[in-house]
Amino acid sequence: MSHLLEFDEVDKYFGDTHVLKQVSLDVDETEVCVVIGPSGSGKSTLLRCANRLEEIQGGEIRLDGVPLSDPDADINRLRQQIGMVFQSFNLFPHKTALENVTLAPLKVRGIDEDMANARGEELLEQVGLGAQMNSYPNQLSGGQQQRVAIARALAMDPKVMLFDEVTSALDPELVGEVLEVMRTLADDGMTMMVVTHEMGFAREVGDRIVLMADGSVVETGAPEQFFENP
Ligand code: ADP
Ligand code: ADP
Repeated sequence: MSHLLEFDEVDKYFGDTHVLKQVSLDVDETEVCVVIGPSGSGKSTLLRCANRLEEIQGGEIRLDGVPLSDPDADINRLRQQIGMVFQSFNLFPHKTALENVTLAPLKVRGIDEDMANARGEELLEQVGLGAQMNSYPNQLSGGQQQRVAIARALAMDPKVMLFDEVTSALDPELVGEVLEVMRTLADDGMTMMVVTHEMGFAREVGDRIVLMADGSVVETGAPEQFFENP
């Protein structure tokens, strides 16, 4: 099993605050790595560093062995390979679900419009929104909008998907449909890092649980080691 995403003694500071302290963590291909821990422990920052939304001050993060900071690496290409979904959906309000999904592939990757549309439709079907392709975000529930956001990230054909508390802003009855999409992705072999408070998901879908506290990884192990049997 090869390491796809590697955090090697990563240090992150916000001013004088040491937010990630020599964090080392390897995510293997097809692995679902669930990151848990108290609020403020650095979970979100860890994901944001992996997507270069935040710069790191020490250590290295590698995708497929290539450091994200490699001056010779195509950083845009690297970033495309790391899909990210956030708590807030951040869809373009004046674009349809399909347009939201195809926008980046069209603009960033210069893909032919028919191909982008075909792939976008396929992805929206995959997240259960085949009937909502031409709906605008305000015509969709929060759960549906979040599923569009997942399809949008997948449209770049990422090698790994990062999920940062993607169900935390949803009404409780909408959480399940989003987790179900994530579960299907995991079953299909997508490599994933998931920050979540949904312990049922962590136990059932996670291959590995990473417990963070105060900017450090304090424990990692199989779900059985972390959770009592249901
Ligand atoms: P978690 O996701 O585990 O709740 P975060 O990664 O959001 O933790 O935050 C880790 C620490 O970094 C917290 O102390 C938080 O206040 C701090 N932090 C996060 N983002 C910033 C920022 N942009 N500027 C300053 N401090 C930040
Ligand atoms: P989350 O934990 O879901 O990332 P937060 O409420 O901790 O959300 O942070 C919301 C935003 O504020 C993020 O962009 C984060 O980087 C930033 N942030 C968090 N803590 C601080 C802080 N102490 N100082 C400045 N910005 C912060």
